[in-house]
Formats: sequence, C-alpha cells, structure tokens
Amino acid sequence: MTEKRLAIVTGGGRGIGLAIVMALEKQGRKVVAMDIDKARLAELQEKAEKEGLDILTECIDITDSDALTACMERLGDAHGGIGILVNNAGITRDGLVVTISDDDFDKVIAINLKASFVATRAATKSMMRHRFGRIISISSVSGVIGNAGQSNYAASKAALIGMSKCVAREFAKRNITANCVAPGFIVTEMTAVLPEKAKDYAKSAIPMNKFGAVEDIANAVAFFASDDSGYITGQVLCVDGGMAM
Ligand code: NAP
Repeated sequence: MTEKRLAIVTGGGRGIGLAIVMALEKQGRKVVAMDIDKARLAELQEKAEKEGLDILTECIDITDSDALTACMERLGDAHGGIGILVNNAGITRDGLVVTISDDDFDKVIAINLKASFVATRAATKSMMRHRFGRIISISSVSGVIGNAGQSNYAASKAALIGMSKCVAREFAKRNITANCVAPGFIVTEMTAVLPEKAKDYAKSAIPMNKFGAVEDIANAVAFFASDDSGYITGQVLCVDGGMAM
C-alpha cells in the first residue's frame, strides 16, 4: 500500500498540472493543487468534495517567495511533512531573440525557474526531517534541444534541469530524489493558442507524428513519485513521441 504522503503540485488548476493532481490522488496521495486562478481551484475543490477525492487547493501567486515559503511550511506542519513536490507551473512569452523584452524574459524566469527553486528549498527542509522526498520538475524538450522563438522559456527549462541535478546530488544520501519530466508538444490551453502553422511544424518534428495528452505526462510524474523509482535520481525523462532523441 502506498504511504499517504502529502504531494504539492504547482499550477495544479488546469492542464498538465491538473492531470498530475488527479494521477497522484489516484496513487493514494493527499494532493494540494496550488494555482493563481481562484475560479479554477474552486471548481476543483467542489469536484473533490463531491467525488470524495483527497485534494486540497491553495490559491497563491508562486512568484511571491515569502507567501510560497510560508504556505509550504504551513502545509508541511499540518499534514505530517511534504513527501512530493511537483514544480509544474510555467508560462511562455515567445518571441525571437531580438523581440523579447526584459520584462518577458524576467517573468518567464520568475515563474518557471525561481519559484521552482523557492518551492524546492521549502520542500527539502521538510523532506530532510522525514528522510523521504520526491521532487519532480516539469521541464520541456525546448530546454533539452532548444527551439527557435523560445530563448527565455528554453533557458528557464534547461536551468530547471541543472537545478534538479544539483538537488539530486545534494540530497541523494537522504532518500530525496529529484528528476525532471520534459514534455514535448502536449495538448493543453497553453499550446491551443499557437498558430496552426506552428502546430503543423511541431507535428512534423515528432517521429510519432502526434501530440501528447496531459495523461502521458501525469503517468511519468506518477512513476517518479512512486516507490518504484526509488533508485532513480538526477534524470530527465522526455515524454515527447521521440521528438528530442
Ligand atoms: P497551463 O495550461 O498554462 O497551466 C499552467 C497553470 O499554472 C495555470 O493554471 C496557470 O494559471 C498556473 N500559473 C501560472 N503562473 C502562476 C503563478 N505565478 N502562480 C501560480 N500558478 C500559476 O500550462 P500546461 O500546458 O499545463 O503546462 C504545464 C507545465 O508543462 C509548464 O511548466 C509548461 O512549461 C510545461 N510544458 C508544457 C508543454 C505543453 O505542450 N503544454 C510542453 C512542454 C512543457 P494562469 O492560466 O492563470 O496563468
């Protein structure tokens, strides 16, 4: 039987994050969905209560480092420690190098990278006390192979991989693992807004010639969160239909 450890998923209100929340709950975890969107979380909370799902919600802007740290500490104290952290929340502000503004660069780094660091720092404090932890960061194939028009995003996602490997090395002896899942092109609201031409181009670069589903990513995260992956750390698993191989 899977231990009922607390799992926290940033950006858990929709898309890949929501699928991860559902998969971890199904795995027997108590899951906290953190998101900036109140309405989405209210809907999820209502569904959880109706269906008896062990899901809690926290409305928070994860770029507020103090609020995020305090929230993580409060959750850990209230639920016997944090067992699993999924750094999922992320944004894009695409553009060619010559058009990306400082603001668009900084925003992407603040959400995709710095908030993941702050959440990881808070989580590891709790995980060290309990000598168990699973940290899973959602990177991207853009961070692995690059993508024209995503220099800010790819920089943040490649940095997440570097950070995750440092965390893996720092905490390896304490039964805390850190791994990344790097999605390829997944059908979500984030990708729905891309022009058809960009979607066709993306599909042509995927050996399987199709986009992935949010569940494809959630399944990989559930594996890294499970006891089956206890001897795996510092890895990057591309879930991308073969795009980055
Ligand atoms: P999504 O549909 O946009 O969901 C992201 C969630 O995070 C949204 O609910 C968003 O709220 C929330 N969020 C954004 N900024 C936040 C903040 N400051 N504080 C708290 N929550 C915040 O994205 P997705 O497509 O599911 O992607 C999830 C992750 O996978 C991201 O890290 C993304 O980079 C990565 N990824 C996705 C793909 C893909 O093809 N979809 C491919 C590679 C990697 P708002 O909507 O209000 O901003």
